[in-house]
Amino acid sequence: MDVTVHSLTNNPTQAWKEISKGQKLFKLNVKIPTKPVDADKVRFVCMSDTHSLIHNIKFDVPDGDVFIHAGDFTKCGQRTEVEEFNKWIGGLPHKHKIVIGGNHELSFDKKFITAFKEKDKGSDTEDDIPNYGKKSANIGDAVNTADITKFLSNCTYLQDESIEIFGIKLYGTPWQPAFGNWAFNLERGEECLAKWRLIPSNVDVLITHTPPLGHGDLACSGVRAGCVELLQTVQTRVKPKYHVFGHIHEGYGVTSDGKIIFINASTCNINYVPDNLPIVFDMPLPKGCTKV
Ligand code: MN
Ligand code: MN
Repeated sequence: MDVTVHSLTNNPTQAWKEISKGQKLFKLNVKIPTKPVDADKVRFVCMSDTHSLIHNIKFDVPDGDVFIHAGDFTKCGQRTEVEEFNKWIGGLPHKHKIVIGGNHELSFDKKFITAFKEKDKGSDTEDDIPNYGKKSANIGDAVNTADITKFLSNCTYLQDESIEIFGIKLYGTPWQPAFGNWAFNLERGEECLAKWRLIPSNVDVLITHTPPLGHGDLACSGVRAGCVELLQTVQTRVKPKYHVFGHIHEGYGVTSDGKIIFINASTCNINYVPDNLPIVFDMPLPKGCTKV
């Protein structure tokens, strides 16, 4: 089924009131497994929104086959932050490490950087530019978008891209419905949907920075921040087994609509304290695939 823009796309809270009438919603209690993963399963360990606070983490990151970080690993995408994160992720034991960007990775978004440089020429107020531009930060500290993978040498960075691991298909994308003046912002509706149309239909594990509507997207203000068309794309076309995201820190946890498992893996809570435990799941190896 072809997904089109929902009439309430700009009012996700109201959209969910309508859409949720025909939806199942379960909250799942997921604990970190104490036993090692079975030979015929792949263990995924998910985190998100660590915001350059990895050194304040009090838990050990559980071992597994695949580590996923769903974006916002920095505060504002500065070079030193990216270097520090790359060093940290390099020390993790997982064989595969998958990372996407979030709205805080300012320097990863070409459009944001271009707009910033334009604004920088003409104005010295720069009110609505987060952190950057406010004296302390300097665009010279940014990571050049062409060099992202050089800086993130200890992991695989996905930006509107797929990867296959042990026969399991993953796809990662950083975009979200506009949220203040940050990176990877798109207008709700057609602009967002155009990015979701790029997601292949055979993805098993989808990684986005934004939550879809109705799952892990309830902000503490009572407003739903998720994307309506992302939910529809995920439920009607892509149908992944798992959808991993972050962004709305207070939405941390695991839910399901009875078919797809939705994981908000935000490590930081609403107060930017990195206390939420990683979320771990084991997925059976596809037929004929091995981990060796
Ligand atoms: Mn965040
Ligand atoms: Mn975010």
